[in-house]
Amino acid sequence: MRTYQNFIGGEWTPASSGKTFSNINPADTRETVAQYAAGGQADAVAAIEAAKKSFPAWAALTPVARGRILGKASQLLEARKAELAELLTREEGKTLAEATGEVQRAADIFRFFGGLGYTLGGQTIPHDLPGNLLFTRREPLGVVGLITPWNFPVAIPAWKLAPALLCGNAVVLKPASQAPALALELAKALAEAGLPKGVLNVVVGDGRAVGGELANHPSIVALSFTGSYPIGRQIYQQLAPRMARAQMEMGGKNPTIVLADADLDLAATLVIRAGFGLTGQACTATSRVLVEKSVLAAFTEKLTTRACALKVGNGLTAGIDMGPAVNQSELDGNFAHLEGALKEGAELLCGGGRLRDGDLAHGFFMQPTVLGGVTPQMKIASEEVFGPVVAVLAVENFDEALAVANGVDVGLSASIVTRDLKKAMLYAERIEAGVVKINQISTGLALQAPFGGVKKSSTDSFKEQGAGAVEFYSRIKTVYLDYSA
Ligand code: NAP
Repeated sequence: MRTYQNFIGGEWTPASSGKTFSNINPADTRETVAQYAAGGQADAVAAIEAAKKSFPAWAALTPVARGRILGKASQLLEARKAELAELLTREEGKTLAEATGEVQRAADIFRFFGGLGYTLGGQTIPHDLPGNLLFTRREPLGVVGLITPWNFPVAIPAWKLAPALLCGNAVVLKPASQAPALALELAKALAEAGLPKGVLNVVVGDGRAVGGELANHPSIVALSFTGSYPIGRQIYQQLAPRMARAQMEMGGKNPTIVLADADLDLAATLVIRAGFGLTGQACTATSRVLVEKSVLAAFTEKLTTRACALKVGNGLTAGIDMGPAVNQSELDGNFAHLEGALKEGAELLCGGGRLRDGDLAHGFFMQPTVLGGVTPQMKIASEEVFGPVVAVLAVENFDEALAVANGVDVGLSASIVTRDLKKAMLYAERIEAGVVKINQISTGLALQAPFGGVKKSSTDSFKEQGAGAVEFYSRIKTVYLDYSA
């Protein structure tokens, strides 16, 4: 079992209350994975003060110098990839292959933003008059708060931290209590890479106490949050009175449309990967499949055959396709959604049960579940499950598929499987989503491309990831210089 303290002012620090808490392995609840300092409001305040103190010197460095530290951290993370991936699997439950990919992603993000330091700057703009220079400067904001969820415990902290630090901000990061180990390991790598003390502070602890303090504290000038809609909405309201910059990225109800001309084997493969990969615990997971009626039976048969064949188990075991739910409450939530759907008339086509054979009895394992006969009016067609449950809806044609896909109040990722280029492009134009995938899984993002949702999936103010991620973490100042006299 590992033991972690909070990282405040460059020091590993116990909670001011002296309290600790432990996390268990969701695949085997007999194993305690790590013990943490249970931070509270006072620890969050101490972290904010440490960040404030470190900010001026960090902001005074050039982006190239800051980028060098990010680049070094990338190398350190990559060197420890196998160890960190195993820790991630033990704490969050995803398969080792998924965890390895996520740690690699975090290393790649730091490398990408490290290099971006060479390009980070302002712009020169032609002035109306000769002998004048008109240009912009890109400047850091100050102390930035980051609040992250448990489902990508290293990739999401990385994709917020790297641009925040590159731009010259000091940061207080509050990772999800369910899986904070990797965020603390990121801090370790950054410290070893030479990040000055206090520039990054990580406080683990109760969401309301630590996260709430970040949302309310006047020194937090910008806050980037990823998580559920109710919490994101609440934080947004807490930031509004002081007009702090806000970036809230929240849940989705991501559709994959299967048109009659689609390669149905490809469609089934994509839905399996996007619906059951990461145990369906991805904000971009496919949870609705809208299938043209003429191919409904053929597609559903392929989907259920493959879903029922998936191997569920401990993500550390070779050959496992899908790990457990992250905790008892997520598992209970999955079954509550399932029960509600069956009561509303959905048909259970595959799965639907808890797995308890042998060692599985010690984990939060649910069978990959496919529901048929789902209509847009049912809750399962519009509410996020965040588990391995895929709902299949029949549609008459492309127009109806598009209307149903857009008929929810969230819009994160949306996929379509078709050989019809015109319909694919119409979909890209008309779907209300931040990301569109054509003949690809709804999950999986290029770190160099912008990411974010629309509608209730996001405040839709700034994009995350890609070079444009720096827009949230910096401000532009315009300078007029007259040298004509
Ligand atoms: P969550 O319950 O909203 O928690 C997210 C973070 O907020 C955690 O660090 C949590 O801390 C903290 N928090 C809880 N209450 C708070 C409060 N009152 N004030 C400030 N912070 C508070 O979400 P989750 O269950 O971790 O994550 C799942 C959700 O995230 C899903 O809806 C998923 O779709 C969404 N998600 C979205 C994206 C995206 O990019 N759009 C990516 C991944 C996940 P504690 O852990 O201590 O409670």
